[in-house]
Amino acid sequence: MQRKYLEFKKKEKNLSSTKSKILLVYTGGTIGMVKDYNSGALKAFNFKKLLKNIPELNQLDCDVKSISFKEPIDSSDINTAHWIHIAEIIEKYYRVYDGFVILHGSDTMSYTASALSFLLENLNKPVILTGSQLPIGDLRTDAKENLITAIQIASLKERDRSVVREVGLYFEYKLYRGNRTTKINAEHFQAFASRNYPHMMESGVHLNVQKEYLLKPNNRKKCIVHKQLDTNVAILKLFPGITENVLESVLNTKELKVLVLETYGSGNAPTEAWFLNALKNAVKKGMHIINVTQCSGGGVIMGQYETSEQLKKLQIINGKDITTEAAITKAMYMLGTGISDKLFKTIFETSLRGEMS
Ligand code: ASP
Repeated sequence: MQRKYLEFKKKEKNLSSTKSKILLVYTGGTIGMVKDYNSGALKAFNFKKLLKNIPELNQLDCDVKSISFKEPIDSSDINTAHWIHIAEIIEKYYRVYDGFVILHGSDTMSYTASALSFLLENLNKPVILTGSQLPIGDLRTDAKENLITAIQIASLKERDRSVVREVGLYFEYKLYRGNRTTKINAEHFQAFASRNYPHMMESGVHLNVQKEYLLKPNNRKKCIVHKQLDTNVAILKLFPGITENVLESVLNTKELKVLVLETYGSGNAPTEAWFLNALKNAVKKGMHIINVTQCSGGGVIMGQYETSEQLKKLQIINGKDITTEAAITKAMYMLGTGISDKLFKTIFETSLRGEMS
């Protein structure tokens, strides 16, 4: 794969040995965008110039080095190759740095955070995603606080060990578990929510760490970086009036292996024969169908209502309280590992990286 990133600034050997060493990975997003004077639209900007706008970085009590995508992107352009690329950067510098901060557009940040959580097995260092709603050069920007606190969180240590040892997402004073988040607002600075899992840190006058909510990985296990994601997956959101044609055409998509079905409430779906038969036939042909709720909080409880009891009988997978973002990326990851059809349901229903309760 073509190298999409550039390295600049000093070499690693110039890093101090006592301070935390943080690698900033700039992928793009509003945080580093500027206005195109002709169209008025925001577009990605050169990261070196961006860094000049944050002299505060020099005041931090850690060594920060940076690396940037050669062509920074709006996160709406992110794809699985980019995710693997970010995972490879982390793999390459895993031993050198104590923590990683990924600057990313907010639009798909929850998908990227979820994907990275699965790609990085036995992660023992912080990988914190952040971005902003306004560009860093804007007078009212939220970028500086997000960036500076994300770096501080990544450099937090206790007894010589990183406090955060998982993929987190820091935005507007809160650190969330990345694979529990969803973007909920395109206007407010508080753009993310984690409705089914408490935030793990809150930044006020002090950084308030909620240790009990942080993942406690086994630090004897070596970090494994996975590099395969299978994109033969789809999401279908149910709505009253959905037709057989729509359902059939999704289920008959060439090569489709996994369908994430966004159902109503606690995992309920129509009980009409055409609907259940279509699902039944797809499962019989080997498709994995995952039941997730379209509600922003709470989860699927298969069998609570008659309208989900049927799905349970059809061997539809219980997504419990997983987000759609985590469900689709977990499916890509699991297919990528080459897992057998027999094990797929059991493993999917197991929490791998704290993504479900
Ligand atoms: N469109 C931008 C992006 O996701 C929005 C943002 O950065 O907040 O890249």
